[in-house]
Amino acid sequence: MKNLTKSNHGQPMSYSGDSINQNDDHYLSVDNVSIGFDEREILSNISFQLQRGDIGCLLGPSGCGKTTLLRSIAGFESVDDGMIQLNAKALSHQGYILPAEQRNIGMVFQDYALFSHLNVIDNIAFGLHRFSKTQALTRANDLIARIGLVGKEHKMPHELSGGEQQRVALARALAPEPQLLLLDEPFSNLDVELRETLSRDVRDIIKQSNTTALMVTHDQHEAFAMADSIGVIQSGRLAQWGSAYTIYHEPVNAFVADFVGQGVFLEGQMRSASEVNTTLGCFEREIASAEQDSLVTGDKVKVLIRPDDIIHDDDSELTARVITRDFRGAEFLYTLALANGEELLVMVPSHHNHAINEQIGIRLEIDHVVVFK
Ligand code: ATP
Repeated sequence: MKNLTKSNHGQPMSYSGDSINQNDDHYLSVDNVSIGFDEREILSNISFQLQRGDIGCLLGPSGCGKTTLLRSIAGFESVDDGMIQLNAKALSHQGYILPAEQRNIGMVFQDYALFSHLNVIDNIAFGLHRFSKTQALTRANDLIARIGLVGKEHKMPHELSGGEQQRVALARALAPEPQLLLLDEPFSNLDVELRETLSRDVRDIIKQSNTTALMVTHDQHEAFAMADSIGVIQSGRLAQWGSAYTIYHEPVNAFVADFVGQGVFLEGQMRSASEVNTTLGCFEREIASAEQDSLVTGDKVKVLIRPDDIIHDDDSELTARVITRDFRGAEFLYTLALANGEELLVMVPSHHNHAINEQIGIRLEIDHVVVFK
């Protein structure tokens, strides 16, 4: 693996650069990219596209290869196979890597990486060599307004909160008008509440500047708040690429279903190609499954049940026992046990305060059933 040695950085071996793909739908195009280290394959046949102006998110557990993929797009890692293109120009393929400094790609890191000896405005204006001093200051001031830090232009990084520092880092990355913005776990040093508000703000700022961006995170809430498209990476392979809605409601496999959103799997058995029997009854609705074509009567399957598939209803004859309760302010997340021991999750308004071991009524509200072999 890695026939392309690191010494090839910046040395085009067989440049086949320009105008391969002129389509805005494929503004960033990653085609069949594979990357390995020391004979170990880390990423295998990764393919996805980002439209110009869209925000993509790579989501996956620790060690799945997200950062390696981001670094290869930034130009810090070479690819063993496949091709990365940006705005119809080849950035990397086997035997070729366009140096990072020639890619016009901005980066935001989790540790902000601000220059500690420069104040806010000088940090933001730092990379604006192609602008006159006046233009650079105008641009920096404009970005300071966009990130909501007017009045803090002359503060030093250590005088800012973590959230403020990350806004400055974002403004600094956006200042030179990069062709692409890459964000590597940008909110992971911030507390949970701030992450949610900041991720919404950051999305707005990126969208206003019409920048195409790709973010790496292992936090689904950040991905949901930020992304137009989400890619879930499972052990170095792209398990699924799609909108947050599709990934949540139509996960292609049990890993994606489990990793994105909450839910449980009930045992089921196919009664026909379009009906599945479970302890909660027979579902005859639309069945979504990557293995749908190969499902036949009698197949044992796992049926995904999300908390929003279950409604608490005191009048329902179907009941389940509360085994855990997780207070979330406006809601309780209850784990319920069915008579046969199988478990469900249900989100209930928190004025429905039920005790452990209490039997509560539930009914199903399932539009489509997601099953896995
Ligand atoms: P995390 O969320 O923990 O940052 P990740 O999904 O971003 O994880 P990567 O940092 O891409 O994962 O690492 C994927 C795998 O590649 C890990 O097993 C890591 O040890 C390995 N790896 C990354 N960089 C190198 C390197 N330069 N040399 C050898 N192995 C590496």
